[in-house]
Amino acid sequence: MPTVSSVLGPLDVADLGFTLTHEHVYTASAGILHTYPELFGDFEDLRSQVVSTLTEARNGGVQTLIEVSTLDLGRDVRFFADVSRRTGVNIIAATGIWRDIPRALWNRDPDQIADLFVREIQVGVEGTGIKAGIIKVANDREGVTREAEIILRAAARAAMRTGVRISTHTYAPGRVGDQQVAIFESEGLDLNRVYIGHSNDSTELDYLLGLVKKGAWLGMDRHQSPAPIGPDAEGRAQTLAALIKEGVGDRVMVSHDWSVLGVSRTSDPRASRVSNPDGWLFAKRKLFPRLLELGVTQAQVDALNVDNPRRFLGG
Ligand SMILES: [Zn+2]
Repeated sequence: MPTVSSVLGPLDVADLGFTLTHEHVYTASAGILHTYPELFGDFEDLRSQVVSTLTEARNGGVQTLIEVSTLDLGRDVRFFADVSRRTGVNIIAATGIWRDIPRALWNRDPDQIADLFVREIQVGVEGTGIKAGIIKVANDREGVTREAEIILRAAARAAMRTGVRISTHTYAPGRVGDQQVAIFESEGLDLNRVYIGHSNDSTELDYLLGLVKKGAWLGMDRHQSPAPIGPDAEGRAQTLAALIKEGVGDRVMVSHDWSVLGVSRTSDPRASRVSNPDGWLFAKRKLFPRLLELGVTQAQVDALNVDNPRRFLGG
């Protein structure tokens, strides 16, 4: 059986169980926890909020979280390992770079950056021995900029060298997934290894089905209402039901892109429950019952977060 690196060591993909494919324990900025820790409020309070939220998710049936925070989102793999150990939720950490591409990488060769990602996958992050199990990249409204293209090519090369999958952030209303796919194709990467995230910020089935036809997976991974971009939760449920009826339910995964604390907005971890009182259980509590009402079968619902992540990571 293939394995994926979790923050506590290799995990047989058959043991992933119910998996949320795009989440964040918290989001911040590179180095800020050490330089301006007061922006996190009381860090021990954050730790206990994360532990209780993960425990609630675990009791609700969530077994694995793919934590797609990178260096520039303030990733702390030691913290992930600690809360994973305390709660029993498997956490898969990311290498790669999000939207705040460090200037130190702007003029590097993609192969040199790929070496950095490969080290985090094969040796570990920051000398911890904790290995990344996914490669994250991000392109928003501006599309794929010159610097971002270097990161995308590095990610593709690291994915081909290691077999580790790529998870993207996109601006779906601008069809940015198509730009990412074009670069991955030019690198010779098998698109079966690529998850195009935030795809449900779009309701355009021709765009979404086009990505699937190319071989990529779709992350239907935003569900809060009201949403900063894209449709409300009902619109997202309808788009997902439509995709399943189009026969591509075996190419989509559901998650929330939710975090206990978003440091760029607040220091209070309780604030993020205001917009989403269900936390990491929103899909189970609200989305899945609505999908059933829209004519999706229980077996099709069950595949979204169990069979599909297992096939994506280990297929
Ligand atoms: Zn995210």
